Amino acid sequence: MTLQIVCQACNMVHRQDTRLWRCGCGGPLDVGFRGTIDMDMIGRRSPGMWRYREALPIGADARVVSFNEGFTPIVRMQIDGKPLTVKQENLFPTGSFKDRGASVLISRALELGVEKVVEDSSGNAGAAVAAYASRAGIECEIYVPESNSPGKLAQIRLYGAKLIRVPGSREATARAAMEAAEHHFYASHVWNPFFFQGTKTYAFEIWEQLGFKAPDTLIVPTGHGTMLIGAFLGFRDLLENGLIDRLPRMVAVQAANCAPLYRMWRDHPAELSAAPSGDTIAEGIAIAEPARAPQILDIIHETCGRIVTVTDAEIEVALLDICKQGLYAEPTSATAVAAFRKFPENSDECVVAPLTGHGLKSTEKMLKLTGD
Ligand SMILES: *Cc1c(COP(=O)(O)O)cnc(C)c1O
Ligand SMILES: [Zn+2]
Repeated sequence: MTLQIVCQACNMVHRQDTRLWRCGCGGPLDVGFRGTIDMDMIGRRSPGMWRYREALPIGADARVVSFNEGFTPIVRMQIDGKPLTVKQENLFPTGSFKDRGASVLISRALELGVEKVVEDSSGNAGAAVAAYASRAGIECEIYVPESNSPGKLAQIRLYGAKLIRVPGSREATARAAMEAAEHHFYASHVWNPFFFQGTKTYAFEIWEQLGFKAPDTLIVPTGHGTMLIGAFLGFRDLLENGLIDRLPRMVAVQAANCAPLYRMWRDHPAELSAAPSGDTIAEGIAIAEPARAPQILDIIHETCGRIVTVTDAEIEVALLDICKQGLYAEPTSATAVAAFRKFPENSDECVVAPLTGHGLKSTEKMLKLTGD
């Protein structure tokens, strides 16, 4: 399989077996690879994300690291009397959609002969990378902020990863991981472009589950954009293969207390100014400095989408509504439903929103909602 690893900022083409996590110019890398879709083969394979094998840039099947994950069920809900199609991404092996990205990223690491990976994440991405590294027999170190609640770290540790606690902010943790990445493979869900080659299967599954059609609108909780960018790449593959005739409109949702992308989109500043970020219960998307901000804004423009913010109070109302209907998702996931309640689309549109992570992951936060 020939791939091009291309810098998004300066267009430099890197060696295809590069282990760099970003270009010398500082720009993020992309995988120059256009997936194809083999309609016959899809139906013959088991229902999982790897049924779109021809669209995933991993060579030999022997290198695929998988738990037969994916093909998460969709369910139709009524929110404020309007129909919403919800995709249950909370039902992945580690409890979030990050498994899509980790499956392809760790397969890539195995293909390159990597023996040890490092990653920084306080939550779901760390758990996903730790689980898949363990499945692949690759050593794994996860950097986390010292302030992180210990409960969330149990999953990462029990998968067998080494935890490194870093004093200070989330950004300090990222810097520590980047230093470690001078010597080890940086399995970053933000920087490594293979992660997005995995999250793009979210788009393929929606298309297949809707009867081989694209929805009108996708609502996506967005911090660094791992699902938003992946969904875009997936629908673009479908468009280029002639399997859909237009891209769905992409609506990114941010927490009102931490909304740097929303402010860039609204104000069009040339430079990303570090957003003053307050606390939010949507911890999964509380990202003050999204590394791929220009790419995210391009996607919003190209798909005629928009960026919406939701307050913590709105997130809580939406989460209670989701739970009352029998689904259990973590607070960050409820941002998509909160956004759906707010934006005025015609009710006969097909809108899809994900439950990005499982409620069982954040029992401490869920307990607060019970009012006890
Ligand atoms: C990772 C994640 C998201 C999306 O966050 P990005 O920073 O945009 O990748 C949304 N919800 C949950 C639960 C997540 O773990
Ligand atoms: Zn570059």
